[in-house]
Amino acid sequence: MGEAPSITVPWRRDLTWCEINAQALEDNIKALKGHLSPSTLIAPAVKSNAYGHGLLTAAHAFLRGGADWLCVHTLHEASLLRESGVNVPIYVFGPTQVEDLEEAAALALHLVLYQEEHLQRLGELAHTSPLLIRSLKLHLKIETGNHRQGISLSRAREFVKMISAHPPLNLIGVTSHFANIEDTTEHRFAELQLTRLREAARELEELAGRPLLCHIANSAASLLWPERALSLARIGIASYGLWPSPTVRSETASLLSPPLSPALSWRSRVAQVREVASGEPIGYGCTYTTTRPTRLAVIPVGYYEGYDRSLSNRGQVLIKGQRAPIRGRVCMNICMVDITDLPLICMGDRVTLIGRDGHEEISADEVAQWANTINYEVVARIAGHLPRYEVSNSEPI
Ligand SMILES: *Cc1c(COP(=O)(O)O)cnc(C)c1O
Repeated sequence: MGEAPSITVPWRRDLTWCEINAQALEDNIKALKGHLSPSTLIAPAVKSNAYGHGLLTAAHAFLRGGADWLCVHTLHEASLLRESGVNVPIYVFGPTQVEDLEEAAALALHLVLYQEEHLQRLGELAHTSPLLIRSLKLHLKIETGNHRQGISLSRAREFVKMISAHPPLNLIGVTSHFANIEDTTEHRFAELQLTRLREAARELEELAGRPLLCHIANSAASLLWPERALSLARIGIASYGLWPSPTVRSETASLLSPPLSPALSWRSRVAQVREVASGEPIGYGCTYTTTRPTRLAVIPVGYYEGYDRSLSNRGQVLIKGQRAPIRGRVCMNICMVDITDLPLICMGDRVTLIGRDGHEEISADEVAQWANTINYEVVARIAGHLPRYEVSNSEPI
């Protein structure tokens, strides 16, 4: 197993960076494993730069925590994992180019299959490269109500017949994806999807003449229905210590919910402190006017770094353990916060955009609420170029 990159001290010239508590990631997997049935494999999703946490740091922490598989969106992410020494099964959610099927086989990946073009090319490869294509593991995606990927049960039957006619092709699973589970407490539609998938799996197994893995559970389903996570739980957001939604969190509160700890802190430093008279506009569009003599801190973080522009005049940051509100628009690389009521703040003081500072904490959920979005988007959109430093606990460096 390759070593995950481990750098513990931010480069002194970083304007903004993330600190990733790898121990929390590891512990979240242990907690989720304990929550699920022992027969359910756990497959954390590390797509989208591990929901902003850094692909390799997160992947290796999850493996230390006992992850059985890893899930990604692209072949590129899968190849980065293989290069770093990951040898557990890797499941690719996203579409694969027909021309890339051989590379996927060379990486021994698990692919989701739902397109005729892929089936046809696999049929050809079964003749031309039987040894290679044997290492590719196929999962049929059944349409159960999400209408994103997936094929009807009748098409799936044809796929299974065709795969069975080409023995080098390796069908190992049947899968689907929930459309409406974390956004509601009314789970009739999710129940219907689960039933449709199980019935399809039963029938296709019979047709294939061998057992198949059957999986649909994401974070919300794994937290809500741990005993119905079937063969494999593809868990994204909860692996990072975040809840799929406030709804799932409150629904799960009555169950024995696993302890989850957020693993990401997003920091910066005060670039400048300035005094502004009362009645002066702040920033682009003059969207805020001071109502008193005001002290501002200029923070070198903006929407390019992933701090959404909708946080203009809405967001807050922590400095010296206290909240400072954003004033005016969030710019491309800069925002301004009001520090008039804070103790003396100096250039270079640490700023927390997400995470804990002293007794105060700003969660990804809180930022999501200000930005009128979900915690998934907040963390996934922290720009990929910002350094991620592995820390051993959530205390400030
Ligand atoms: C991203 C993804 C998941 C994980 O979803 P979470 O809600 O983050 O747990 C599971 N399955 C598929 C197909 C996905 O794309």
